[in-house]
Amino acid sequence: MALQVELIPTGEIIRVVHPHRPCKLALGSDGVRVTMESALTARDRVGVQDFVLLENFTSEAAFIENLRRRFRENLIYTYIGPVLVSVNPYRDLQIYSRQHMERYRGVSFYKVPPHLFAVADTVYRALRTERRDQAVMISGESGAGKTEATKRLLQFYAETCPAPERGGAVRDRLLQSNPVLEAFGNAKTLRNDNSSRFGKYMDVQFDFKGAPVGGHILSYLLEKSRVVHQNHGERNFHVFYQLLEGGEEETLRRLGLERNPQSYLYLVKGQCAKVSSINDKSDWKVVRKALTVIDFTEDEVEDLLSVVASVLHLGNIHFAADEESNAQVTTENQLKYLTRLLGVEGSTLREALTHRKIIAKGEELLSPLNLEQAAYARDALSKAVYSRTFTWLVGKINRSLASKDVESPSWRSTTVLGLLDIYGFEVFQHNSFEQFCINYCNEKLQQLFIELTLKSEQEEYEAEGIAWEPVQYFNNKIICDLVEEKFKGIISILDEECLRPGEATDLTFLEKLEDTIKHHPHFLTHKLADQQTRKSLGRGEFRLLHYAGEVTYSVTGFLDKNNDLLFRNLKETMCSSKNPIMGQCFDRSELSDKKRPETVATQFKMSLLQLVEILKSKEPAYVRCIKPNDSKQPGRFDEVLIRHQVKYLGLMENLRVRRAGFAYRRKYEAFLQRYKSLCPETWPTWAGRPQDGVAVLVRHLGYKPEEYKMGRTKIFIRFPKTLFATEDALEV
Ligand code: ATP
Ligand code: MG
Repeated sequence: MALQVELIPTGEIIRVVHPHRPCKLALGSDGVRVTMESALTARDRVGVQDFVLLENFTSEAAFIENLRRRFRENLIYTYIGPVLVSVNPYRDLQIYSRQHMERYRGVSFYKVPPHLFAVADTVYRALRTERRDQAVMISGESGAGKTEATKRLLQFYAETCPAPERGGAVRDRLLQSNPVLEAFGNAKTLRNDNSSRFGKYMDVQFDFKGAPVGGHILSYLLEKSRVVHQNHGERNFHVFYQLLEGGEEETLRRLGLERNPQSYLYLVKGQCAKVSSINDKSDWKVVRKALTVIDFTEDEVEDLLSVVASVLHLGNIHFAADEESNAQVTTENQLKYLTRLLGVEGSTLREALTHRKIIAKGEELLSPLNLEQAAYARDALSKAVYSRTFTWLVGKINRSLASKDVESPSWRSTTVLGLLDIYGFEVFQHNSFEQFCINYCNEKLQQLFIELTLKSEQEEYEAEGIAWEPVQYFNNKIICDLVEEKFKGIISILDEECLRPGEATDLTFLEKLEDTIKHHPHFLTHKLADQQTRKSLGRGEFRLLHYAGEVTYSVTGFLDKNNDLLFRNLKETMCSSKNPIMGQCFDRSELSDKKRPETVATQFKMSLLQLVEILKSKEPAYVRCIKPNDSKQPGRFDEVLIRHQVKYLGLMENLRVRRAGFAYRRKYEAFLQRYKSLCPETWPTWAGRPQDGVAVLVRHLGYKPEEYKMGRTKIFIRFPKTLFATEDALEV
């Protein structure tokens, strides 16, 4: 006797249509469970799989309760319409196997339980059938699961897409670029043992047959301060520990390195070189292999390792003050290794580390540095060497990922699928320049999100011939302008102050902000605040009211970080480096260029504007990741923490926009197929147009005119309860 199995779109419930007696199976944490419960109780237990079906959709408590129910059942994915919300389970749920991939391939979004692979497949099919470029934007705070999601998506495409006719290696390269980028760009932090310390946008190019043929990566704002300093409980970038743990004896000897990370000042500040969840030794093996896959020659690997080692040696450079308080290098051994590894003159490097070259009236003057200045110069050099090498590495990976088939016809008809894995909104006890940049980035992405979501909603209504009902929403353009506007924006004012070396300080920057911005609804300082608010603001702070909430920034270090100064003679020294990587990272044109280099904030702003343009040109998909607790533990649902994230991710706003019109919409064919048994006129078959069948059906069901609208190809239902009543009627 054959059983017909169906999925209900409102909960992970499988209906088993038994010829004589209806019964059901429910998907639970421990697999498939046979239950006889009604749809209603199942919904109570596992929640709704699309937040738009929440009756009380404006209630944050109802939203969180739904998340909690699903999390308890290990259902980590839930939709808000087409947006996927994901809660990090902190355990291997075995839901990313090849079988799971197959389950989601070519299947309509709503016919299967929510899953990352449903997004992956929907996006891929749109790319193939509509030939429109796509972008999956993954956001969430540190540890929420963005990078894991990106990797799962890549894996999905690598395993399920056809292989290209030529250049099949690109699949491996796409996958193998990851461990290399993570080694250099990820680190153990308090929040995440494998935290990405840079933003990443990766394009995967597909040929006309849907095979991946190339890729390209853009990276954003590497947290380079980590090279020279780590907070307690945090580490430097993985690569340093990997090399020391996993590097061969011979390699380490040549690089002048000792195995013990404790020997290196740049590695001991966080006091946690060993992390139980990380195996540096085996990770190093993976990275070493991956380097070969992404086209590194043995020489290039050597050059790269030389750079990594020289950063460690630089960190161990010590200075002592001579009788005139001028800094002198005291660590000859380190200097010797640096000279060799970087291929620079020892005397030049020594001089550059202890003097500053100033050009005054066309004449070069060497001014000796004191201890503090020398340490600053040394650390600035380390940061520059490392971060430029990271940029070089991304470039090198891009050359390896570039489609080798540029001339072939398949190249011309490529479509692009972008994956954005970028830092989410950050609010710490102490927020500085880095958080300012990151939160500005989130404002831009939120703006884009609102623009695109509203646009696509409006387009759908228009396409379906349904009157558009304007949605009230908060447009955060006012905050983006506050940060990025020419002349009056915070970045402009900061840049202006950076042009007054010697005179400007972080505090004069703050004063200028107060003078220029004054009374802005989203900006506040101690001076501008009323008596009550003033208490919560320090004198060296400003507060921005972001779309996701208030953040107070301390101005300390803003000028310095934005200037990102590297003394001229250090640049000159590096330009003379015989290490080919350094040769490419430090270019002489920097020295002759009269124009000041762009500041960090301005560079970031430009790269964000470029990113927004790239994303705008693509069909968007969204994955919003949530971290369930701060202890990296499975099963713990920390409500306070989650409520914050729901806010920062703008999920309630998202739901409001999505629900402004209709809770549910479905193609006539699909709707009729599902519910035709509820009406004698449509059961068992309806011979006419599906649209007419649906009209007959809903009349029979007693839908009131205000409850639904008939579009060109879809029925739109305003309230979840209408749909649920229909769904429950199937049970009878
Ligand atoms: P950051 O902003 O710090 O880079 P992130 O959002 O990229 O954070 P991930 O590195 O993706 O966070 O995830 C952190 C950790 O959480 C992973 O190392 C993994 O242990 C766990 N994790 C994340 N997503 C999943 C998942 N879907 N299933 C199982 N474990 C997961
Ligand atoms: Mg990450």
